Amino acid sequence: MSAVGSGPALGLEDVRALEQRYLMRTYKRGEVDFVRGEGVLLWDADGKEYLDFLAGISVCSLGHCHPAVVAAVQEQAGRLMHVSNLFYTEPMARLAERLSESSLGGRVFFANSGTEANECAIKIARKHAHARGIENAEIVSFESDFHGRTYGALSATPKLARNEALGPMLPGFRAVPRGDVAALREAVGERTAAVLIEPIQGEAGIVPIADEALLAARQACDESGALLIFDEIQTGVGRTGSLWAYEQTPVRPDVLTSAKALGGGMPIGACVTAPVAADVLEPGDHGSTFAGGPVATAAALAVLDTVDDPALLRRVRELGTELRTGLEALDGVVGTRGRGLMIGVALEPELDAATVGADLLRRGLVVNVPAPSTLRLLPPLVVESSHVERAVGLIGDSLLGLSA
Ligand code: PLP
Repeated sequence: MSAVGSGPALGLEDVRALEQRYLMRTYKRGEVDFVRGEGVLLWDADGKEYLDFLAGISVCSLGHCHPAVVAAVQEQAGRLMHVSNLFYTEPMARLAERLSESSLGGRVFFANSGTEANECAIKIARKHAHARGIENAEIVSFESDFHGRTYGALSATPKLARNEALGPMLPGFRAVPRGDVAALREAVGERTAAVLIEPIQGEAGIVPIADEALLAARQACDESGALLIFDEIQTGVGRTGSLWAYEQTPVRPDVLTSAKALGGGMPIGACVTAPVAADVLEPGDHGSTFAGGPVATAAALAVLDTVDDPALLRRVRELGTELRTGLEALDGVVGTRGRGLMIGVALEPELDAATVGADLLRRGLVVNVPAPSTLRLLPPLVVESSHVERAVGLIGDSLLGLSA
């Protein structure tokens, strides 16, 4: 029996052959076929063990198959999987309360992914602007922000929005250089619906936005009446050592978006508002068949029960410091960036980060290479000092081997 149901188990070669024939070529994959995960570890089809310092791009933040998440999913899947948004369901209502009360205090809209959570935020921003009499409203983001792949979120993702083959993009989006306070002040004005930014840019290679720039964004929004939206899809749900990244900054957004780790592996997104934006969307403005379904929301409740714990969040900050200290002592590492367990590693420019990433995978460590000369580490939040030591050792060996 294969790991995916009936039929004989396939090996990497067969899976690759099937994929090459039948899947659209949108991803370049690492050379491994994972079949099982537990905690910080993954295993491939040949039984080889890997230490996972990527956690499904910050989705499996509690580690693979966390018992609380598995139990919540199994229990809910055996009771009620789906009824649509035409009826009340308890897990959705309880999760909305939990998200609102742990953050901005307004209302929540559920989605199925990060990009969809941002679509909701963009709709809120535009409708809020229309109510203020603005017709051609603009949303301002930073260069190198990543907000997703659907057309609204894509139009707010400057680097990808320049792909003319996918045009035309939506009008009404504008980008300023990352962290440039003067450019931000100049860009935000009477026509601005919102400033939509990542407080720490993830896909760009883990680049925190300076407090000064976040404060400037807050002030510019207050003066113009625009909404400040934080995309916390990668930074949220404990990743930085607080439940939300904004808690470690001097500003509070009006809207935040979450996804990734929220479902512990189940697909879910959420757009959470402060009271100022809570009533902007009305019946008919937005919707989704699947979103907020009982299984995904039950999983998310189990995730928040586990992550929203001061001891766990303190450990995230401590282990982040341990990991960065270990990495910074390695030959070939120029420095590290980030907060908590969201860490970008800057390598010596002569090292090819893609080669390092592939070598680490062969050595049994899963990381990601989001930019040239950069490794991205997003280990599960339940990682322990022994895992950190092992990962630093493997990265050190790899850098030594490749620069020899
Ligand atoms: N926003 C940020 C900051 C992200 O990191 C991502 C995904 O990497 C997204 C939005 C899009 O999320 P999804 O891939 O779930 O649509």
